[in-house]
Amino acid sequence: MKKIAILGSTGSIGTQTLDVVRANKDLQVLGISAGSNVEKLESQVREFSPKLVAVWKEDAARDLAVRIQDTKTRVVSGMDGLLELARMEETEILVTAIVGMIGIRPTMEAIRSGKDIALANKETLVTAGHLIMPLAEECGVRILPVDSEHSAIFQALHGEYKEEIHKLLITASGGPFRGKKREELVNVTLADTLRHPNWVMGQKITVDSATLVNKGLEVMEAKWLFGMELDHIQVVVQPQSIIHSMVEFKDGGIMAQLGTPDMRLPIQYALYYPHRRFLDGERLDFAKLRQITFEEPDMETFQGLPMAMDAAERGGSMPTVFNAANELAVRKFLQEKIGFLDIYEIIGQSMGRHTIIEKPGLEEILAVEKETYQWIESRW
Ligand code: NDP
Repeated sequence: MKKIAILGSTGSIGTQTLDVVRANKDLQVLGISAGSNVEKLESQVREFSPKLVAVWKEDAARDLAVRIQDTKTRVVSGMDGLLELARMEETEILVTAIVGMIGIRPTMEAIRSGKDIALANKETLVTAGHLIMPLAEECGVRILPVDSEHSAIFQALHGEYKEEIHKLLITASGGPFRGKKREELVNVTLADTLRHPNWVMGQKITVDSATLVNKGLEVMEAKWLFGMELDHIQVVVQPQSIIHSMVEFKDGGIMAQLGTPDMRLPIQYALYYPHRRFLDGERLDFAKLRQITFEEPDMETFQGLPMAMDAAERGGSMPTVFNAANELAVRKFLQEKIGFLDIYEIIGQSMGRHTIIEKPGLEEILAVEKETYQWIESRW
């Protein structure tokens, strides 16, 4: 039995992780958690009988405790609850399927407790990669990528030598507005933005895909996961989302990982690495597919990517500002308080006023996040 816990079990990655558990009888879920979705948590507790469930919101935790008082599952709450879930004694792997940089502290707690991390929560690596990667090495734990692009690179690198990589090629679908120009984005609605062409995902990452912020976050995530310099990471638009990413080696050879867009594959690969298990679902049919096309990303229209590259190049606390500003801007966009292009404006202005802290510690990262939020709230 492989014992796992899931941070963010009610979301898109969390529920697909539970689909993988259902299909494999040798996985046991010892802990689950969410922000406030008590109904889904209750049904997950009844189906998987975890020992612990952590709920971020105190009132939701109290509500859940009443609902499941006939079970043996214990309910904890707040950041202390997430940390307790992260360090649960018997778990081997923590799946970080929580959204946003709130995942930093539980991820670090799990690493310190010797758990391998199946990492979907990219915001954590973007803001604290310089703390997390050395900590994982020191504690002898593996960071196993779940993001489809990074899983593709991880799969392409299996059995290869890191020194022989020339560059990483991260593919992008281009999102729902691919081909549009800036003027055409002025009045796009929330509903238009949430209509991703290939993937069904949580709302935040779906908006990030439309702005290309997601691709920028992925470039930073790849830098930390694979120890690559930014000028050896290239983004290629591949609108059908069939090639999930590629690695070019020094001899010019390129290894790519292909498949239908199905997040259960990278989740399952991370949970069983280095083994592969049967996974039901559609297979690629090249005769039907006929073509896979490529484009360069439109960096002028979709500023999320160049802004992220700029934040990554400047380094220190700048990626935290980039990420925090985006998290709050996306929240406001989801509440329909700002327009699509305001997301770029908020990120750009937040970065413009920030004085970089080199090698920020955890407390400094969290302080920069708070300060960025306060500044944005005072203006938008
Ligand atoms: P969702 O929005 O679907 O789910 C987020 C999960 O996090 C939910 O379980 C949510 O609980 C929980 N959560 C939110 N806030 C808190 C909090 N304060 N404390 C505890 N739990 C919290 O997101 P996704 O599954 O789409 O994405 C999760 C992460 O995975 C993101 O970092 C994303 O970038 C990454 N990712 C996602 C992919 C996808 O296909 N969805 C692909 C690759 C990466 P509640 O339901 O109660 O709000």
